[in-house]
Amino acid sequence: MEARSMDAEACSVEAPPIRRLEESVVNRIAAGEVIQRPFSAVKELVENSLDASSSSINVYIKDGGLKLIQVSDNGHGIRYEDLPILCERHTTSKLTSYEDLKTISSLGFRGEALASMTFVAHVTVTTITEGQTHGYRASYKDGVLEQEPRPCAAVKGTQIMVENLFYNMAARRKSFKNLSDEYARILDVISRYAIQKINVSFSCKKHGDSTTDVHTTGMGSRIDAIRSIYGPSVARELVEITASDDDISRSIFKMEGLVSSANYSAKKTTMVLFINDRLVECSPLKKAIEVVYSAILPKASKPFIYMSIVLPSEHVDVNIHPTKREVSLLNQESLVDTIQNAVEAKLMHSNTTRIFYTQKTLPGISKVANTEEEESLSQKLETKLPNVPVRKIVRTDSSNPAGRMHAFLQKKPNGGQEAQGDLVTIRHAVRQRRNPKETADLTSIHELMDAVDRNTHSGLLDIVKDCTYVGMADNTSALVQYKTQLYLVNVVKLSRELMYQQVIRRFAHFDALQLSNPPPIFELLLISLDEEERSGLWDESDGPKEQIARLNVELLEKKYEMLKEYFCVGIDQQGNLYNLPLVLDQYTPDMDRLPQFVWTLTNDVDWDTEKGCFESIAAAIGDFYALHPPLLPNPSEEGPKFYQISEGNDHMDQQKETNIDEDLIEEAKIKWDQREWAIQHILFPSLKLFLKPPKEMASDGTFVQVACLENLFKIFERC
Ligand code: ADP
Ligand code: MG
Repeated sequence: MEARSMDAEACSVEAPPIRRLEESVVNRIAAGEVIQRPFSAVKELVENSLDASSSSINVYIKDGGLKLIQVSDNGHGIRYEDLPILCERHTTSKLTSYEDLKTISSLGFRGEALASMTFVAHVTVTTITEGQTHGYRASYKDGVLEQEPRPCAAVKGTQIMVENLFYNMAARRKSFKNLSDEYARILDVISRYAIQKINVSFSCKKHGDSTTDVHTTGMGSRIDAIRSIYGPSVARELVEITASDDDISRSIFKMEGLVSSANYSAKKTTMVLFINDRLVECSPLKKAIEVVYSAILPKASKPFIYMSIVLPSEHVDVNIHPTKREVSLLNQESLVDTIQNAVEAKLMHSNTTRIFYTQKTLPGISKVANTEEEESLSQKLETKLPNVPVRKIVRTDSSNPAGRMHAFLQKKPNGGQEAQGDLVTIRHAVRQRRNPKETADLTSIHELMDAVDRNTHSGLLDIVKDCTYVGMADNTSALVQYKTQLYLVNVVKLSRELMYQQVIRRFAHFDALQLSNPPPIFELLLISLDEEERSGLWDESDGPKEQIARLNVELLEKKYEMLKEYFCVGIDQQGNLYNLPLVLDQYTPDMDRLPQFVWTLTNDVDWDTEKGCFESIAAAIGDFYALHPPLLPNPSEEGPKFYQISEGNDHMDQQKETNIDEDLIEEAKIKWDQREWAIQHILFPSLKLFLKPPKEMASDGTFVQVACLENLFKIFERC
């Protein structure tokens, strides 16, 4: 019943008549689309000035552009006879046939901008063309000239004033509450053009201010323009980048740009993108580049990117958006990919390859030896390692330094492209981040990351970011210079914290370091129990070592999956450790500390809560990977006497000459040299990039300001 009566009611409603909208309404609606906000008017006016071959463009703004936008240029001006139709819709000097669109190089072409402005504001044009003695001033409303243009004095070019924008669109006008926000958008668009058009001088000033907010000379380089607009901290960190492709089956383009290096970080990405000289946005490209940076920059820091891409105009559709802001490109995916790869490669070169490629042998990557020297070094290390049980190989007693663990370590760049080294590693990290595993969304890891952020000491952060490494002052302290101050910094503490933070950041996304000869964790635990015994932490009343080790293995067995998945600590079903995480690219930990690490994993990890568990595992890995002094004493300090082989206590003196273990001295030297190399070339550059120093470091002796320079002379002599 009810339904029927409703139907009847519906039928009784008369069909409304369709009417033709009044032209002024149509025009106003259309105008509101082209001119969405004050800055869109500024953009159109600046583009017109550029199309008119101006070399100087000055902008003046009142009330965020709502009261007045005034753009003055020194371009070719507008002919007197064109003034009557200047502001009619679809009048333009830039396009005659539809075909022209394909090859259009001017920024405007639709003849809509000025017309649109006259439908939503009062527009006054003052202009003079070449060879004229005076100019003309004309004002327009709703697309038409209000009265005959009046002769007036004028300087070369055109000045357009747009007053009371949206005066007839009350709702739109009210929506711009924050005028300084609108002004900021205006500055943004002018800034972008100013760094693209470096031969044009730009300025922008706000009513009532005596100084300009944007100012470029039109004479310097692009970096000069960026410096004067975005500041020296951006300009300093820019690297040039190019990419191109000319394979029609993929994409045809040329790209030139400037991108910030990994030393720069901002809260928001700035991406200034021009395609065929048009200021546009291309979010797939922006995202692709951000992915590269997110693999390199600490969480939440963002890059600065300027790019200018040129491609055949028939490959761009500039006409898909009323303000021409978005463009659609032919073969966009391929273009994005090529550019992304170029950015990756460039960043690696500018920030890390310089650091890593000159590296001598590092423990563990001896397999990828490049030079003869390295080859022989790695052979030396390997020939020393006969196939004997781990327990016998690992040096556990500092008075009996008999074995090393180098041969257990082999770096495995995922995908097996070993020789390509660090690029592969980073690329892999980047690819992984494109498809992050769900596991990385665990809230406790986010909480740990936030805790690091919250606990960052900003003063120390400045020191770390801007300091210069001078040298090692002793086995644990490095001397660094920051501005005019010298600091002694504890490299063990710094590196431990850095590694911890990296573990949290890379959580569930590690590349693997593969142990070529996987040691059984049972044996490793026995080794550390021996160590415990020597330090008096184990005695027979604790029970047999084998039993303790066995229990610990059982405990760990339940955690194999989690350790592998989240921390890349791989233990196989036989209890052999075959993988370790790559915490810092190109860095492998000191394998002499492996037994201690396994011991910490089984004894010092809080297995009860998720957060506590992740935190303590990260801390254990952090400590293992920290740049501790090598366990072998420093031969340059201890002298060779430490390396004498003792065969009974009292024969030492007589055997002094013959029984010094030269090989071991050699090995110790290599270890210490490598560590020092790693501190300078891996640790400090990485600290600058990644470390967020916790507040405690200000008072726990990690940083000690050295006040008296004279006392340092002794140290300098050693450096
Ligand atoms: P379009 O830029 O799409 O041609 P506009 O409405 O922006 O359309 O401008 C209409 C025409 O007015 C332009 O084609 C150009 O001939 C002229 N014009 C506008 N601004 C300027 C200027 N600053 N200097 C010289 N000519 C201009
Ligand atoms: Mg235009």
